[in-house]
Amino acid sequence: MSNESLANLLKEERRFAPPADLAANANVTAEAYEQAKADRLGFWAEQARRLTWAKEPTETLDWSNPPFAKWFKDGELNVAYNCVDRHVEAGHGDRVAIHFEGEPGDSRTITYAQLKDEVSQAANALLELGVRKGDRVAIYMPMIPETAVAMLACARIGAAHSVVFGGFSADALATRIQDADAKVVITADGGYRRGKPSALKPAVDEAADRADTVRHVLVVRRTGQDVAWTEGRDLWWHEAVGRQSTEHTPEAFEAEQPLFILYTSGTTGKPKGILHTSGGFLTQTAYTHWAVFDLKPETDVFWCTADVGWVTGHSYIVYGPLANGATQVMYEGTPDTPHQGRFWEIVQKYGVTILYTAPTAIRTFMKWGDDIPAKFDLSSLRVLGSVGEPINPEAWIWYRKNIGADRTPVVDTWWQTETGGIMVSPLPGVTGAKPGSAQTPLPGIAATVVDDEAREVSAGGGGYLVLTEPWPAMLRTIWGDDQRYIDTYWSRFEGKYFAGDGAKKDDDGDIWLLGRVDDVMLVSGHNISTTEVESALVSHPSVAEAAVVGAADETTGQAIVAFVILRGTAAETEQLVAELRDHVGATLGPIAKPKRILPVNELPKTRSGKIMRRLLRDVAENRQLGDVTTLTDSTVMDLIQAKLPQAP
Ligand code: ATP
Ligand code: MG
Repeated sequence: MSNESLANLLKEERRFAPPADLAANANVTAEAYEQAKADRLGFWAEQARRLTWAKEPTETLDWSNPPFAKWFKDGELNVAYNCVDRHVEAGHGDRVAIHFEGEPGDSRTITYAQLKDEVSQAANALLELGVRKGDRVAIYMPMIPETAVAMLACARIGAAHSVVFGGFSADALATRIQDADAKVVITADGGYRRGKPSALKPAVDEAADRADTVRHVLVVRRTGQDVAWTEGRDLWWHEAVGRQSTEHTPEAFEAEQPLFILYTSGTTGKPKGILHTSGGFLTQTAYTHWAVFDLKPETDVFWCTADVGWVTGHSYIVYGPLANGATQVMYEGTPDTPHQGRFWEIVQKYGVTILYTAPTAIRTFMKWGDDIPAKFDLSSLRVLGSVGEPINPEAWIWYRKNIGADRTPVVDTWWQTETGGIMVSPLPGVTGAKPGSAQTPLPGIAATVVDDEAREVSAGGGGYLVLTEPWPAMLRTIWGDDQRYIDTYWSRFEGKYFAGDGAKKDDDGDIWLLGRVDDVMLVSGHNISTTEVESALVSHPSVAEAAVVGAADETTGQAIVAFVILRGTAAETEQLVAELRDHVGATLGPIAKPKRILPVNELPKTRSGKIMRRLLRDVAENRQLGDVTTLTDSTVMDLIQAKLPQAP
């Protein structure tokens, strides 16, 4: 990257104060920032007391061997006990833990007491299969309650799980099983996806043939489809788990006991096995879930729409909400099955109060039209969250207005697989929100923006987002590769964690994420953020979604090429393209005007819904496409290439 810091182009002046009633009853007030600033470790020690420890920690942080952190290291706890048993012991056994909604319309309600029984049975079954503390178990599942049960059962016996997203191929599964040396795989015959059963077991069979570490495969019956069976290795969940006792006494493990390995989504390169441990991870996920969403466990119904195969599902479907004794919705399928109002129907059915979803979903809803959510009663909603990519200000406004009745706060939460929990986000009862900005490091979190020389930028400056102090839910290493951990995250700026994202600080010192530094464009010597140009395009009424890349250009170094998806009725004319180019020029300045704008029907996205800009760059530079295996739908690229006029 050049020495020119990111140009600061976008001006967004809209502000939204917290609703008065929410602010008056908020879990967290502005004092939390002061308190954490005065005594950061004391603040986290206090948050750790949200958990029930078998042995209370006396030491908060051991940072004697950076960047390898130990949090609460002499403390002992059982993560599953914290997520399940203690709520039952506190008299909340009848509280609903999970409202499960299957894609075909089947549903199941699971109370904390039932969850305790199921997790205990699954823990007993894993023990019977020879799984012990410190072992690894791979989980390759649809979005069904057994997935959470399986994760908690691993945690309960001190085994680390490695959840592999159910949409990944046999090949991806095999490499992950091998990398983590997993001896048991938990899967299902299949799950429902877009109105039909989609098989999972064949991929496990193929992967287990290749990875010779696998001794047993535990199979949940979900769809009833035929499965191949390897006698001695394969076991049905309903038999092997179903016949177990519902009694299991949880053992306490050290705070640094590995809890899970999760491979990053692979937007940029070879996936990394991110290792998370127990006490610090659970402390931060419990705290942030309570603080950022203002969770009231007695009355709220929380719904995080992520797949449990991503970190968002780990931290904000399984661990954070359950540690807090929350009631939540879990949905198996896609947002347009059987109709485009499915999400809103679910919000209405369960009276969801807190919704946590991704910008890619929000932009899709914008494209489908305002009339769809308008048909449902969404008045139960009181806090909306966003995660996964920078949210364009216009998508933020649409979300607040059409889903939140122009009343609910929107919290834009920045974090990563590596950070384990939310790091930078507004607080719904405290922060005056700015559409498109994650704004403020949470209490106890030290994040800032630095320039190429690692100097903190002043208000109005742009550069790189870094974390300057260790945090409880931080990754502990890359599984089996300490050196890659140091090289990837701690080498760019000495003593600081480099997140890989570009960011700027506005005049108030609030943080705006500007996209991955790998995606930043260099035009006539200026670093320009893809996010800002995309947001400018999406702010035009005819554009639903945009992806922008820098393509090699003889005169300017790189030229901006934009791919746009038009909203419902907009016609694809030369006139509109010219209008869009001028619109970007007027919004951000002439330097940011795209050289080419190409209307397309779809954009290439990873399975976690993020735009894959490197493939668009290949297209824009007339190159052979790179690896497309992590795309949701690889035919998208054929369509885009077919539309492309030959480059000038
Ligand atoms: P890989 O690291 O393998 O390339 P990935 O970065 O997509 O994959 P995740 O850990 O799921 O894997 O995503 C974290 C990244 O997502 C962040 O580094 C950032 O680029 C982006 N991101 C997440 N939330 C936000 C947000 N609220 N605002 C801006 N960017 C976000
Ligand atoms: Mg990443």
